[in-house]
Amino acid sequence: MLVRTNPEIVESLDAESVIVTVLAESEASTVCLTCSFQAEDMIVLDLLRKRLPQVPVLFLETGYHFSETYQFRDRMTAEWGLNLVNALPKKTVQQQESELGILYREDPAKCCQLRKVEPLMASLEPFEIWFTGLRREQSPTRKNLKKIEQHRLPSGKTLLKVSPLADWTWVQVWEYTGKRGLSYLPQYDQGYASIGCEPCTAIPDDPANPRSGRWSGKKLECGIHTFSEKAE
Ligand code: SF4
Repeated sequence: MLVRTNPEIVESLDAESVIVTVLAESEASTVCLTCSFQAEDMIVLDLLRKRLPQVPVLFLETGYHFSETYQFRDRMTAEWGLNLVNALPKKTVQQQESELGILYREDPAKCCQLRKVEPLMASLEPFEIWFTGLRREQSPTRKNLKKIEQHRLPSGKTLLKVSPLADWTWVQVWEYTGKRGLSYLPQYDQGYASIGCEPCTAIPDDPANPRSGRWSGKKLECGIHTFSEKAE
């Protein structure tokens, strides 16, 4: 089965089968995972690293993450021997703030563009297969997500975006995490449901919309999952 030509068949597969099927058709060197070390990313990483222990783990190093997130990233990188790739913006936090001010307050779209979208675009260029931990239930903006989608980057390059957990529920995420004994970010125990940069992350008011705690509810996406065009 060629997954690129049979996306509807892939929709019926469970998460592990999606990964097995995609990897069977891919060169290992063309595969990467974007990872903010949230619970979903840890599950995809748990499944993926069994088959590709050195898969590049792309972390968008904005400079604005919680200290707990940096500690967790470093602990998991050491414990799992991860091939961590920190995707860095062109400017440090200090340079950006002195030249452009506090963008996460004044212009969060620009801040995300400079610190997340541009570094991600550059980081994805060498790859053909992009694994994510996205789920449809996470946000109204993700409700039409497919397990595999062809995406075109602004450079014109296309790649296969693979979201094996697209149809998972929040309950399933925590069942798997418990069953496998996976470590998780400590902020979840404080009530956070979607964890990104510290200045733009709060405990959500609306439990039915876990991303409502991001950017004070003013926006739901930072742009890293909306900058590329679906190529189908
Ligand atoms: S999430 Fe906030 S701090 Fe992080 S890059 Fe976007 S605007 Fe900046």
